[in-house]
Amino acid sequence: MFNAIMIDKTRTGSRASIRSLERAALPEGEITIRVDYSSLNYKDALAITGRGPVVRRFPMIPGIDLAGEIIASDDPIYRPGDQVIANGWGLGEEHWGGLSQMARVHGKWLLPRPRNFSARQCMGIGTAGYTAMLCVMALEKGGVTPGDGEIAVTGAGGGVGGIAIALLARLGYRVVAVTGRDDLTGYLHMLGAAEVVGRSALSHTARPLQAARWRGAIDVAGGKMLAALCASMRPGGVIAACGLTAGMDLPLTVAPFILRGVTLQGIDSVTCPRDQRMAAWARLERDLDPALVDSICADIPLKQAIATSPRLLAGNVRGRIVVNTHDA
Ligand code: NAP
Repeated sequence: MFNAIMIDKTRTGSRASIRSLERAALPEGEITIRVDYSSLNYKDALAITGRGPVVRRFPMIPGIDLAGEIIASDDPIYRPGDQVIANGWGLGEEHWGGLSQMARVHGKWLLPRPRNFSARQCMGIGTAGYTAMLCVMALEKGGVTPGDGEIAVTGAGGGVGGIAIALLARLGYRVVAVTGRDDLTGYLHMLGAAEVVGRSALSHTARPLQAARWRGAIDVAGGKMLAALCASMRPGGVIAACGLTAGMDLPLTVAPFILRGVTLQGIDSVTCPRDQRMAAWARLERDLDPALVDSICADIPLKQAIATSPRLLAGNVRGRIVVNTHDA
């Protein structure tokens, strides 16, 4: 038997609870894993609270991230005892995910655990940190280099934003952290932000273009904040957009693209090809200090992931939440 968070469909929506399950209940897959750690991402909180259409099959074990040890394998590449991680690929959406003491998955979804990080640190990074790295790589691909100008990072107090700040600062960029929380200024400077501004610094106006400030941006907000970023990019600026915490809509004009040559690069961590994942995790090993990961993580037991989810969606969580699945 093992414990997991399970989301069941109800007449009015869905409900999450802790359940005890038989190993035989695990879904199809070549590899069975003892999950040691998972993490709580924005998407997991949407799934657990039922506030977003994340779960596409019920009943569902949420958790888009997992780290653990293989205990059985029908895949010739992996053996029992191997330490592995997984991010995305539909975990916690279409296939039972990582907020569980056990998981069964397909081998092609797994990566060997990066040597520089413990299983807990891998989940402290999780999808949020791996996506932050994909965003940094998108800026680099767009020709943005340190010394070129300022980089704005929205949602700075959260997971993607915080790790993006740390990565960019370590690489030598001048980072401006955009946050809705005045009390995080010291924390954001500790991560490496050169300047901290409020969300009102990205105010949406009816004007198609605003004063050109940003050479690059990493945006987790979407909505009017992303529209304001687009309108205030410098010529040739690059934005990596990955989130929707401010909304799904995007009220903008084509002016930033046709008059300033701005690039808006979408980031999708879920179906990102394996070679790019490997490259992103290799860069995380090179560019992210494990001690910094420790400093931005809070640990919770499995069952507390349910109560923590509304707080995370309300923007009241700082940094990353690591879930210790064996502290049930
Ligand atoms: P998180 O840890 O909960 O952080 C989100 C942050 O967004 C909050 O801490 C808050 O930061 C800010 N925020 C919250 N509500 C806001 C609002 N109404 N307007 C503007 N900012 C707001 O979440 P996360 O894990 O970093 O994920 C952030 C977003 O990226 C989510 O939408 C998530 O689904 C998305 N994401 C996408 C991918 C992908 O593959 N595309 C991968 C990972 C994450 P401040 O208080 O500092 O402003």
